Amino acid sequence: MDGRFLVEPGQRARIARRDTRDGVDADGKEDGHRQLAEVQAKLAGLHNRLWAEATRSALLILQGLDASGKDGVIRSVFTGLNPQGVRVVSFKAPTSNERAHDYLWRVHKALPVRGEIGIFNRSHYEDYVAVRMLGLAPKEVWGRRPGHFREWERMLVDEGTAVVKVFLNVSKDEQRRRLQERVDDPAKRWKFRAEDLEVRKRFDDYLQAWDDVITETSTEWAPWHVVPADRNWVKALAVAEILCEALERLDPRMPPPADGIEGLTIE
Ligand code: AMP
Ligand code: MG
Repeated sequence: MDGRFLVEPGQRARIARRDTRDGVDADGKEDGHRQLAEVQAKLAGLHNRLWAEATRSALLILQGLDASGKDGVIRSVFTGLNPQGVRVVSFKAPTSNERAHDYLWRVHKALPVRGEIGIFNRSHYEDYVAVRMLGLAPKEVWGRRPGHFREWERMLVDEGTAVVKVFLNVSKDEQRRRLQERVDDPAKRWKFRAEDLEVRKRFDDYLQAWDDVITETSTEWAPWHVVPADRNWVKALAVAEILCEALERLDPRMPPPADGIEGLTIE
């Protein structure tokens, strides 16, 4: 997809100036869904090879403000993949046991094993943004974390994990509509949390914090993508394509057959 959602390493992310609605080459929703089905089929094939090869892995890090649609993307992009071989981990505020370790401890344990696609629904990036915005630690502590992220992700890539980072860029108005829906629709009410309204009041400041950390951590080895998130089919197609391209670059191969298998007849 020619890197159109990419945050060029060394350049400011400028999330607030990016489109929240458009950016994929699809002729409306129906065409978008048709293309998504095609990309999913490709993804399934690549995933199958990754699983068979069992020497490398992929990690999709999904971030975005409340109601940007992280859960929905996971549902729609990964439909049709073999659940054996996909590992989804959602990061909440750390427990007391987790807080008794360094902040990467729980994240490291949650990584995909060789052959798997791992999905992080939120991630270590909250250890910068949430910690900074909620004042959970002083600036010396969170300010040096982008450096840790760069180095840690470098190690993962060196060791065979493709690291794909996506920020779902939802507009303030679309977030309002979705949060209202969580109030009004009994089927969505379970997702509503009053704390989200406090965060919403500081929408622009949160976006600025994300802009800062994304700018500092979009690297050649683990670049960020900022994806328009106001429409579900647009973001699903964009994320599926970005992941698919990363797996194509990884180019997983079926392992060679063991000696003596060629031409063997099973009695
Ligand atoms: P949700 O994704 O809606 O279930 O919400 C998870 C909540 O956990 C969000 O409010 C996050 O900001 C919070 N959270 C996740 N990771 C951390 C972290 N490392 N430090 C503080 N809060 C976090
Ligand atoms: Mg939430």
